[in-house]
Amino acid sequence: MSEIATKIEARFSELGVKVKTDEIETRLDQLINKFKVPAEEARRNVINYFLKQHNIPRTEFFAQRETQVVKVSDIKEDGKWVTLRGKIVKLWESNHESVSQVGLLGDESGTIRFTKWTKAALPQVEEGKSYLFKNVTTSEWQGQFSIKLNRTSEILPIKEDIEVGSTPVEYTGAIVDIQSGSGLIKRCPECNRALVKGACGEHGKVDGIYDLRVKAVMDDGEKVQDILLNREVTEKLTGITLEKAKEMATEALDQSVVLDAIKRQLVGRYFAVSGTKLDRFILVDTISQDVKPIEEEIKKLLSSAASPVAQEA
Ligand SMILES: [Zn+2]
Repeated sequence: MSEIATKIEARFSELGVKVKTDEIETRLDQLINKFKVPAEEARRNVINYFLKQHNIPRTEFFAQRETQVVKVSDIKEDGKWVTLRGKIVKLWESNHESVSQVGLLGDESGTIRFTKWTKAALPQVEEGKSYLFKNVTTSEWQGQFSIKLNRTSEILPIKEDIEVGSTPVEYTGAIVDIQSGSGLIKRCPECNRALVKGACGEHGKVDGIYDLRVKAVMDDGEKVQDILLNREVTEKLTGITLEKAKEMATEALDQSVVLDAIKRQLVGRYFAVSGTKLDRFILVDTISQDVKPIEEEIKKLLSSAASPVAQEA
């Protein structure tokens, strides 16, 4: 019932009229619980009551605002109202009470982060299920787009199982940092999550399985980009195989020697990467050292050395 009340309040507020939610709820409660009026009829009755009170024509209230149906990859502008079909790829823990759910959803064209406000009073979504997300707003922060589900949004489950596509991307820049959780790591044998201090977030203390990966930050002079290299790509790039990494750690009695070796090899160098975008990361398929910036530096040095007259003047 509070869901219905919130929706009514939101629609009136769009029309510039302030109606109190508890006042709507009281009327709904009376009709539904006291007079046993069906919910849909009660809703109409309450809407009509407030329409009359505020002198608003019915047609205006029920006018459908048609929002455009878009694909994830079409979202390139901030503050637009859109509708999209998508599958919930991942849900993250919300760390703020104003956010009821936060995660990643995707369609054939790619993935996008979403935030569902608690105030929106919308139904809960589940990982792996597909929905129609009606009347959501787009938002941009530091070049990353996301969608927000608010009080005028709707979530309708759909039967179709949407295949989530990936967005191929390329990026060139310098690796400026290697993040913790890189190098030789251990994963949970149950869920494959990376262990933190020998424990899985879900399964507690477990006997982990070794893996090798790199989480790095790149910078192209304009914006930074997080990249993720899996074991295969890491081995190929650094020449440190998983076996070698285990040997290094055993010898030093310290896992972090692998991370240090990777840092020495990669930080401060230019690379060209290609892969697929997943939330804020690029999952890297190929990475190669980019020699262009170095060639340009040499060219600059050579040209300034070749014209001593110009330099004197
Ligand atoms: Zn686990």
